[in-house]
Amino acid sequence: MSGCLFCKIISKEIPAEIVYEDEDVLAFKDIKPAAPIHILIVPKRHIPTIIDVDDNILIGKIHRIAVEIAEKNNIASSGFRIVCNCNRHGGQEVYHLHFHLIGGRVMNWPPG
Ligand code: 5GP
Ligand code: ZN
Repeated sequence: MSGCLFCKIISKEIPAEIVYEDEDVLAFKDIKPAAPIHILIVPKRHIPTIIDVDDNILIGKIHRIAVEIAEKNNIASSGFRIVCNCNRHGGQEVYHLHFHLIGGRVMNWPPG
């Protein structure tokens, strides 16, 4: 979708530190990491929010990839968080569905 920041990263119009790519999914480092490991995992197809999801297999695949990236970064056994912010109260800033994989430090709960 033209004008979408993450679509531009997917099309390589805007650079990002890519850590995983296949035909459906791209994962890249967050530009403003909230923890030592902070990766964004996105479907290549433009889906604005989790409310708009029509493909549960894709969502399952993204979660499996998140775990694989966690294992590769040695944060699987220490622990990590997968976050999907939705709409204004959820704190969503980029309206292209993405899952944050965050780890490498102890997380607080509940979130602020
Ligand atoms: P949201 O608040 O929508 O869940 O998260 C958007 C995330 O995208 C934020 O963590 C923010 O730091 C990240 N972000 C915003 N712009 C860019 C960018 O140009 N490149 C990368 N790699 N991450 C970005
Ligand atoms: Zn997009």
